[in-house]
Amino acid sequence: MARYTGPVCRLCRRQGEKLMLKGERCILKCTLDRRHLPPGQQRPRRRKISDRGLQLREKQKVRHSYGVLERQFRRHFAEAEKRPGITGENLLQILEMRLDNVVYRLGFADSRRQARQLVRHGHITLNGLKTDIPSCAVKPGDVIAWRQRSTNTEYYRRLVERIQDKVVPQWLSLDAENLSGQVLALPGRSDIDLRIDEKAVVEYYSR
Ligand code: SF4
Repeated sequence: MARYTGPVCRLCRRQGEKLMLKGERCILKCTLDRRHLPPGQQRPRRRKISDRGLQLREKQKVRHSYGVLERQFRRHFAEAEKRPGITGENLLQILEMRLDNVVYRLGFADSRRQARQLVRHGHITLNGLKTDIPSCAVKPGDVIAWRQRSTNTEYYRRLVERIQDKVVPQWLSLDAENLSGQVLALPGRSDIDLRIDEKAVVEYYSR
Protein backbone atom coordinates (compact mmCIF):
# COMPACT_ATOMS: atom_id res chain seq x y z
CA MET A 1 0.00 0.00 0.00
CA ALA A 2 1.85 2.98 -1.28
CA ARG A 3 2.14 6.27 0.58
CA TYR A 4 4.20 9.44 0.41
CA THR A 5 7.35 8.99 2.49
CA GLY A 6 9.20 12.25 1.74
CA PRO A 7 9.45 15.34 3.98
CA VAL A 8 5.92 16.58 4.63
CA CYS A 9 6.79 20.20 5.46
CA ARG A 10 8.10 20.45 1.93
CA LEU A 11 4.54 19.89 0.71
CA CYS A 12 3.34 22.91 2.70
CA ARG A 13 6.21 25.01 1.38
CA ARG A 14 5.33 24.02 -2.17
CA GLN A 15 1.69 24.98 -1.55
CA GLY A 16 2.65 28.16 0.27
CA GLU A 17 0.27 27.42 3.13
CA LYS A 18 -0.02 25.34 6.25
CA LEU A 19 -1.66 21.99 5.54
CA MET A 20 -1.32 20.88 9.17
CA LEU A 21 0.10 17.49 8.29
CA LYS A 22 2.02 16.94 11.54
CA GLY A 23 -0.69 17.49 14.12
CA GLU A 24 0.35 19.32 17.30
CA ARG A 25 3.81 20.07 15.94
CA CYS A 26 2.17 22.33 13.30
CA ILE A 27 0.78 24.53 16.08
CA LEU A 28 3.86 24.55 18.28
CA LYS A 29 6.71 24.80 15.79
CA CYS A 30 5.83 25.17 12.14
CA THR A 31 8.59 25.06 9.56
CA LEU A 32 6.66 27.43 7.32
CA ASP A 33 7.12 30.23 9.86
CA ARG A 34 10.89 30.04 9.28
CA ARG A 35 11.13 28.89 5.67
CA HIS A 36 8.23 30.17 3.67
CA LEU A 37 9.74 29.95 0.18
CA PRO A 38 9.00 26.96 -2.05
CA PRO A 39 11.63 24.20 -1.97
CA GLY A 40 14.68 25.02 -4.07
CA GLN A 41 13.93 28.74 -4.23
CA GLN A 42 16.37 31.16 -2.58
CA ARG A 43 14.48 34.44 -2.93
CA PRO A 44 10.88 35.43 -3.63
CA ARG A 45 9.90 35.42 -7.30
CA ARG A 46 7.01 37.26 -8.81
CA ARG A 47 5.45 34.96 -11.33
CA LYS A 48 1.90 34.91 -12.58
CA ILE A 49 0.35 31.48 -12.13
CA SER A 50 -1.93 30.28 -14.95
CA ASP A 51 -5.48 29.04 -14.32
CA ARG A 52 -4.26 25.53 -14.93
CA GLY A 53 -1.50 26.06 -12.39
CA LEU A 54 -4.01 27.24 -9.80
CA GLN A 55 -6.23 24.23 -10.44
CA LEU A 56 -3.24 21.92 -10.08
CA ARG A 57 -2.26 23.61 -6.83
CA GLU A 58 -5.77 23.16 -5.44
CA LYS A 59 -5.85 19.52 -6.46
CA GLN A 60 -2.49 18.91 -4.79
CA LYS A 61 -3.69 20.67 -1.65
CA VAL A 62 -6.66 18.31 -1.32
CA ARG A 63 -4.54 15.28 -2.12
CA HIS A 64 -1.80 16.13 0.38
CA SER A 65 -4.28 17.15 3.07
CA TYR A 66 -5.86 13.70 2.97
CA GLY A 67 -2.54 11.92 2.34
CA VAL A 68 -3.63 10.20 -0.86
CA LEU A 69 -1.37 9.36 -3.81
CA GLU A 70 -2.32 10.44 -7.33
CA ARG A 71 -3.55 7.05 -8.54
CA GLN A 72 -5.90 6.56 -5.64
CA PHE A 73 -7.02 10.17 -5.79
CA ARG A 74 -8.02 9.67 -9.44
CA ARG A 75 -9.95 6.57 -8.40
CA HIS A 76 -11.80 8.58 -5.76
CA PHE A 77 -12.52 11.24 -8.37
CA ALA A 78 -13.89 8.68 -10.85
CA GLU A 79 -16.15 7.35 -8.08
CA ALA A 80 -17.29 10.91 -7.26
CA GLU A 81 -18.21 11.50 -10.90
CA LYS A 82 -20.40 8.40 -10.97
CA ARG A 83 -22.42 9.44 -7.93
CA PRO A 84 -25.44 11.71 -8.28
CA GLY A 85 -24.98 15.29 -7.09
CA ILE A 86 -22.09 17.74 -7.27
CA THR A 87 -18.84 16.00 -8.19
CA GLY A 88 -16.59 18.23 -6.05
CA GLU A 89 -18.72 17.69 -2.96
CA ASN A 90 -18.95 13.96 -3.66
CA LEU A 91 -15.15 13.84 -3.83
CA LEU A 92 -14.75 15.52 -0.45
CA GLN A 93 -17.37 13.22 1.01
CA ILE A 94 -15.53 10.14 -0.26
CA LEU A 95 -12.27 11.45 1.24
CA GLU A 96 -13.95 12.24 4.56
CA MET A 97 -15.42 8.74 4.75
CA ARG A 98 -12.03 7.05 4.52
CA LEU A 99 -11.29 5.09 7.70
CA ASP A 100 -8.02 6.96 8.39
CA ASN A 101 -9.81 10.31 8.16
CA VAL A 102 -12.59 9.16 10.51
CA VAL A 103 -10.00 7.96 13.04
CA TYR A 104 -8.42 11.42 12.83
CA ARG A 105 -11.75 13.26 13.09
CA LEU A 106 -12.65 11.23 16.20
CA GLY A 107 -9.47 12.51 17.82
CA PHE A 108 -7.74 9.13 18.07
CA ALA A 109 -4.78 10.66 16.23
CA ASP A 110 -3.20 14.10 15.90
CA SER A 111 -3.00 14.00 12.13
CA ARG A 112 -4.25 11.91 9.24
CA ARG A 113 -0.74 10.49 8.84
CA GLN A 114 -0.78 9.26 12.41
CA ALA A 115 -4.32 7.92 11.96
CA ARG A 116 -3.17 6.01 8.92
CA GLN A 117 -0.38 4.46 10.96
CA LEU A 118 -2.77 3.43 13.75
CA VAL A 119 -4.96 1.68 11.20
CA ARG A 120 -2.02 0.06 9.39
CA HIS A 121 -0.66 -1.27 12.69
CA GLY A 122 -3.98 -2.94 13.47
CA HIS A 123 -5.03 -0.84 16.48
CA ILE A 124 -8.46 -0.01 15.08
CA THR A 125 -11.58 -2.09 14.61
CA LEU A 126 -14.48 -1.40 12.27
CA ASN A 127 -17.75 -2.91 13.48
CA GLY A 128 -15.79 -5.14 15.84
CA LEU A 129 -13.36 -6.48 13.24
CA LYS A 130 -9.70 -5.55 12.97
CA THR A 131 -9.25 -3.48 9.81
CA ASP A 132 -5.82 -2.40 8.60
CA ILE A 133 -6.83 -0.69 5.35
CA PRO A 134 -6.68 3.12 5.80
CA SER A 135 -8.64 3.80 2.60
CA CYS A 136 -11.54 1.55 3.66
CA ALA A 137 -14.82 3.45 3.13
CA VAL A 138 -17.04 3.69 6.19
CA LYS A 139 -20.78 4.27 6.05
CA PRO A 140 -23.46 5.63 8.38
CA GLY A 141 -24.02 3.27 11.30
CA ASP A 142 -20.43 1.94 11.33
CA VAL A 143 -18.67 1.76 14.68
CA ILE A 144 -14.96 2.56 14.90
CA ALA A 145 -13.15 1.54 18.07
CA TRP A 146 -9.82 0.53 19.55
CA ARG A 147 -8.83 -3.08 19.36
CA GLN A 148 -8.94 -4.62 22.84
CA ARG A 149 -5.30 -5.71 22.63
CA SER A 150 -4.18 -2.14 21.94
CA THR A 151 -5.78 -0.67 25.05
CA ASN A 152 -2.73 -1.70 27.14
CA THR A 153 -0.45 0.76 25.37
CA GLU A 154 0.92 4.00 26.82
CA TYR A 155 -0.46 5.89 23.81
CA TYR A 156 -3.97 4.65 24.63
CA ARG A 157 -3.69 5.67 28.30
CA ARG A 158 -2.58 9.20 27.40
CA LEU A 159 -5.26 9.43 24.73
CA VAL A 160 -8.04 8.57 27.20
CA GLU A 161 -6.95 11.55 29.32
CA ARG A 162 -6.74 14.12 26.57
CA ILE A 163 -9.74 13.09 24.46
CA GLN A 164 -12.36 13.87 27.12
CA ASP A 165 -13.01 17.42 25.82
CA LYS A 166 -12.77 16.51 22.17
CA VAL A 167 -15.53 17.99 19.99
CA VAL A 168 -16.20 15.84 16.94
CA PRO A 169 -18.02 16.89 13.74
CA GLN A 170 -21.79 16.49 13.96
CA TRP A 171 -21.83 13.57 11.51
CA LEU A 172 -19.87 11.54 14.07
CA SER A 173 -20.43 10.61 17.69
CA LEU A 174 -17.73 9.85 20.22
CA ASP A 175 -17.83 7.72 23.35
CA ALA A 176 -14.81 9.23 25.10
CA GLU A 177 -14.89 6.72 27.97
CA ASN A 178 -14.55 3.65 25.77
CA LEU A 179 -12.75 5.36 22.92
CA SER A 180 -15.19 4.37 20.24
CA GLY A 181 -17.11 6.37 17.71
CA GLN A 182 -19.96 5.98 15.31
CA VAL A 183 -20.70 7.44 11.89
CA LEU A 184 -24.12 9.07 12.19
CA ALA A 185 -24.56 10.43 8.67
CA LEU A 186 -22.78 11.37 5.47
CA PRO A 187 -20.84 14.63 5.91
CA GLY A 188 -22.15 17.63 3.97
CA ARG A 189 -19.93 20.33 2.50
CA SER A 190 -20.55 22.59 5.51
CA ASP A 191 -19.20 19.86 7.81
CA ILE A 192 -15.82 19.89 6.11
CA ASP A 193 -13.69 22.64 7.58
CA LEU A 194 -10.86 22.63 5.03
CA ARG A 195 -10.41 25.77 2.93
CA ILE A 196 -10.64 24.05 -0.42
CA ASP A 197 -11.99 25.11 -3.78
CA GLU A 198 -13.26 21.72 -4.93
CA LYS A 199 -14.59 23.22 -8.17
CA ALA A 200 -10.99 23.88 -9.24
CA VAL A 201 -10.19 20.20 -8.67
CA VAL A 202 -13.11 19.17 -10.88
CA GLU A 203 -11.97 21.64 -13.57
CA TYR A 204 -8.45 20.24 -13.36
CA TYR A 205 -9.62 16.73 -14.20
CA SER A 206 -12.22 17.88 -16.74
CA ARG A 207 -9.67 18.93 -19.36
FE1 SF4 B 1 3.04 22.08 7.32
FE2 SF4 B 1 2.85 21.28 9.83
FE3 SF4 B 1 5.21 21.27 8.59
FE4 SF4 B 1 4.03 23.57 9.29
S1 SF4 B 1 4.81 21.96 10.67
S2 SF4 B 1 5.02 23.13 7.36
S3 SF4 B 1 1.85 23.08 8.92
S4 SF4 B 1 3.42 20.00 8.10
